[in-house]
Amino acid sequence: MAGDEKMVQDWPLPDTVEDEDAPFWQHANAGELAIQACARCSRLRHPARPMCPFCQSREREWRVMSGHGRIWSLTIPHPPLLPAFMPYAPYNVIVVELDEDPTIRLVGNLVTGPDGRIDELDPHEIMIGEPVHTVFTRMADDCSLVRWVRDGS
Ligand SMILES: [Zn+2]
Repeated sequence: MAGDEKMVQDWPLPDTVEDEDAPFWQHANAGELAIQACARCSRLRHPARPMCPFCQSREREWRVMSGHGRIWSLTIPHPPLLPAFMPYAPYNVIVVELDEDPTIRLVGNLVTGPDGRIDELDPHEIMIGEPVHTVFTRMADDCSLVRWVRDGS
């Protein structure tokens, strides 16, 4: 598995401390999917941003979601890709709409478990509308990526 560790080190990882979406990553590292919400009108929004696009309030909070959703779209990336992703191509990238609010959509990968490779599932067998839920893949001490598995797996 030494090769896999090397590749993980090369993956571009988010800033989990400074950015507006830092709480997203802090929750993910604790095994929770959290989405930013307006503290005035209560609407969810993603990606995180300082001002509500609906009521322009800057009051904001984070809410823990169920982690359940459905595949809304998918793509199969092909080279040219960032070097860290080249060994995995072709793999799947899915867009998941959340059960709590289908207009909230997250980009991720469908895997078979937290430590599954992003190329282990045949991307051509992934169906739009499949129900999925979150798993969390530890990439570094302060960084876990949100990924998805099929319900029932
Ligand atoms: Zn608002």
